[in-house]
Amino acid sequence: MKMRLNRLLATLISLPARTAPKRLLLCGLLLFGAIAFLLGAEKKPQFNLILVGWDAVGRDDIKDALAKNQLPHLRRLIEKGSLVSIDVLHFSDTTAGWAEIFTGYGYEITGAFNNSEYREIPKGYTLFERLQERFGRENIATGIMAILPTDWTFTDDDPTDERPPLWNPANPDSIINKGLISFSARSADEFDSSHFRTNPKTMAFLEKYRNMPFFLFVHTKMVDHFGHVNGEGSPEHRDALVRIDKHLGKIMAKLKELHLEKKTLIYVTSDHGFDKKRQNHISAPRVFLASNDPKIIRGGEQADIAPTILDRYGFDLSKIEPPLDGRSLLRRYKKPKW
Ligand SMILES: [Zn+2]
Repeated sequence: MKMRLNRLLATLISLPARTAPKRLLLCGLLLFGAIAFLLGAEKKPQFNLILVGWDAVGRDDIKDALAKNQLPHLRRLIEKGSLVSIDVLHFSDTTAGWAEIFTGYGYEITGAFNNSEYREIPKGYTLFERLQERFGRENIATGIMAILPTDWTFTDDDPTDERPPLWNPANPDSIINKGLISFSARSADEFDSSHFRTNPKTMAFLEKYRNMPFFLFVHTKMVDHFGHVNGEGSPEHRDALVRIDKHLGKIMAKLKELHLEKKTLIYVTSDHGFDKKRQNHISAPRVFLASNDPKIIRGGEQADIAPTILDRYGFDLSKIEPPLDGRSLLRRYKKPKW
């Protein structure tokens, strides 16, 4: 590419004087092309990213199941990228966890302290909104496929979707006020049915946006559910992890079918772990980030996940307001010693 560019420039410079208008035209075209390319690069991401939320999956459970060859799809993913440790430095529950993952901010900014103490995430602070603002909705599709008691899914690009928008400060029904609370209020009866409803919707999203860059969050509550009902380490709890790995496998197979496999990054993470042999997660700060992204070079804390994604999309993290609490895992960082 560089050689070809050099030759083109040499040709332009060596054109005889009588071809000056032609030279000017060529120069103009070249300049226009370069500007269009640069603008295009800014205006359209060159890859897709799926953030897979395995609710309540601790990294010890992951390592244990991987050692037993129970997670073949996750293994396939991390063979192309990595599995790194993520620490939760706040209350280990759903609201606090996903709020930090979605924004890169702690509860001082999001207001999401735990499942009972939270407020609306300030407008514009989530990954979805930042991507929409940077690239424009015509250049990136964003979606959330979450498993909730009602048939609740969300794609902000669906004009027929008349449900209230996410993170609308004026709207008490938006995700942080209602959705995340619903995450915790699921019942067993609704569990499988909502799971099987969500899966086809994920597939439909991928089909619909196969020709457009997308950022998709797919959440599954299965492990959390069986942890609360049957206890951490129970056969049901263990089996749930195997089942959500199969769900991941279906997503990966769909990407392959749509020829999106090579241009789609998959990040799998969790909001918190589970207390050993208990039915709750009062203190379960050991989670993980698994991905097929070879650029992730280190582990970190939960607030680092959003900055990593923003960095991947080319954001200048130093310009983000308010300053992010986390740092990109694509770059080195050494904690200062106090
Ligand atoms: Zn839970």
